[in-house]
Amino acid sequence: MEATRCEVCGTDLVEIDLTVDGADLVMRSCSKCDTRTWERDGDVIELDGILTDLSSADTRYKRSLSN
Ligand SMILES: [Zn+2]
Repeated sequence: MEATRCEVCGTDLVEIDLTVDGADLVMRSCSKCDTRTWERDGDVIELDGILTDLSSADTRYKRSLSN
């Protein structure tokens, strides 16, 4: 498998596998410019959609509910 490269600066991205609510997620993070992309079941998804699923984003989730 080829390394995925950052769309912004071309640096090889670091892949981190996560499981959230039974869904397999992959976060790709650029160590140079901090660009991050997320995939769920092979589909690229929006970061905001992921944040609402992560317990570490509790405050942000509640804030989005009140809007
Ligand atoms: Zn980058």
